[in-house]
Amino acid sequence: MITKDIQIIAQNENLAALGFAPASDLDGEPDGHRPEDLLPGARGLVSFAIPVPRAVYRTPAHSADLVCRTQSLLYRRLDSIAVRIAGLLEEQGEQALPIFGCAPMEINRKGDVAGFINQIRIGQAAGIGVVGRNGLLINARYGSRLMLGGVVTTALLPALRRTGPKEPGCPANCRICVDACPVKAIEFEEPKIHIMRCLAHTSRTPLMSRLDFAVRRALRPESAARLMNQTALDEHTLHVCSKCVALCPYGLDD
Ligand code: SF4
Ligand code: SF4
Repeated sequence: MITKDIQIIAQNENLAALGFAPASDLDGEPDGHRPEDLLPGARGLVSFAIPVPRAVYRTPAHSADLVCRTQSLLYRRLDSIAVRIAGLLEEQGEQALPIFGCAPMEINRKGDVAGFINQIRIGQAAGIGVVGRNGLLINARYGSRLMLGGVVTTALLPALRRTGPKEPGCPANCRICVDACPVKAIEFEEPKIHIMRCLAHTSRTPLMSRLDFAVRRALRPESAARLMNQTALDEHTLHVCSKCVALCPYGLDD
C-alpha cells in the first residue's frame, strides 16, 4: 500500500525514475554516513530522479547560468517530493528522513565537502543507474544528467528497480570526462574524484569569502559547513564548469 502511494506520487510528478532498496545496501559507507547513522532502525531507501534537459548543458551560450537556474528549480522540486514521501511514510507509522539533492552538506573527515549520505550510492542501489567515472550516476537513457532525491526510512520496502535498458557502465576505454576536466579532478585508473579541486575551479559563491571558508575548514569544519549551507548552496552558487556532464556520451538517446 505504501509503495503504491509512492509510485502514484512518482507518476503525478512525472519522475524519470523511482527505485527502492534495502538500507543495508549502504552498510559499506563510511562511519557516520550509513542510513542507520542518520535514522536509527533504517531499513529502506527510496531514490528518484529528474533529468536536466540536455540542451541546457549543450547550448553554446549562457550554459552556466541556465544550468544554475535549472538545477535550483529541480533541487527544490526534488526536495519537496522527498518531504512529501517522508510525510506519507510517517502517516503509515514509519519514520522517514528526506535526503535533499544539494544542501545541507558537511565537511567530512578528509576535509571534503560531502553530503550527509551518498545520494549517488542510493540511486545505484535502487537501480536508477551506475556510478560513472565522472563520479555521477549515469543512466542508459539520460546519461549524467539526472538529479536525485531520496528518503531513508524505517519501512521495509520491497525491492523496486527501474525496468529499462541495462546499465553497462562506462566503456573501459572512455576517458572523455577525464581529459575534458580542466583541473584533472577525475582519475582514470581508479574511481576517484578530487571534489575540492573541482569546486575550487568551478564554484562562484559571492556571498561566501573563500578565505573565511578555508580558515574555518581547517580549524572548525562544522562552522565552515554551516557558513556554506547558509550562503553558498542552491542558487547562491554558480558553477562555471559542467564539462564532465555536458560531454559525457553515455545514454541511448545521445
Ligand atoms: S565540473 Fe568541471 S572541474 Fe569539476 S570535475 Fe567536472 S569537468 Fe572537472
Ligand atoms: S565521459 Fe565516458 S568515462 Fe566519463 S562518465 Fe561519461 S561514459 Fe564514463
